[in-house]
Amino acid sequence: LLEVEDLAVEFGGTRVVRGVSFQVEEGETVAVVGESGSGKSVTAQSLLGLVPHGARLAGGHIRIEGQEVTGLAEEQWRKLRGERISMIFQDPLSALNPSLTVGYQIGEMFRRHRGLGRKEARGRSAELMALVGIPDAARRLDEYPHRFSGGMRQRVMIAMALALDPRLLIADEPTTALDVTVQAQILRLLRERQRAERLGMILISHDLGVVARAADRIAVMYAGRIVETGTVPEVYERPAHPYTRGLMRAVP
Ligand code: ATP
Ligand code: MG
Repeated sequence: LLEVEDLAVEFGGTRVVRGVSFQVEEGETVAVVGESGSGKSVTAQSLLGLVPHGARLAGGHIRIEGQEVTGLAEEQWRKLRGERISMIFQDPLSALNPSLTVGYQIGEMFRRHRGLGRKEARGRSAELMALVGIPDAARRLDEYPHRFSGGMRQRVMIAMALALDPRLLIADEPTTALDVTVQAQILRLLRERQRAERLGMILISHDLGVVARAADRIAVMYAGRIVETGTVPEVYERPAHPYTRGLMRAVP
């Protein structure tokens, strides 16, 4: 589904992602763990053609469903983001427009990318909000993002990310800000959708408990590189890199 080969990203002259290679198969969850500043978010954003402001892709290849996407024009990236890949950002408020209703923003996905009319897009948005567990979804379509609690806002984000049935979902700390009950619900929801749709997922998380429950494989990033990959039991029971060993010792 996704192949990343020798990816490099620079800020000014500084390489913050160096020679990163990994793959994600259909239906698989690959967790990316690593200390703060190790390059997880920059890598994730680069996979969607959203290289952060001030950064540039300094090398490597990204293939999505066999198609080389490195070097695509912005318009083609936008289409790809509509149709095949999507991202759940760590902070939903940074990704939602505060001055547009939630229903408008989800509906926009269907209007723009699927050519649906207003009424139909509204119906689909309500269905989707119900699917991610937002009570009273049809009525809440007309509310603005700030009226939703943190957990509900996260669900709105997830609804938007799932709206167009992506093949690949990138989730950057999707549950960090949530209490454990909501966290578990959201992970279960993602897992169900994943099974139903054979969705491939990249899960960036600091929480090794979450990773152990949700991921099939783990990639450990350290100083811009992937220093270790393996299945969850392999990495948890026999960490090879000194950073990973330290990390595992810190697990209670
Ligand atoms: P965290 O766990 O804290 O989210 P991360 O692994 O996601 O960390 P990134 O956000 O990918 O880390 O950052 C990787 C590196 O890129 C860091 O060293 C950071 O200092 C650098 N970096 C990120 N954004 C910028 C920027 N706008 N300008 C310069 N350097 C940046
Ligand atoms: Mg990050």
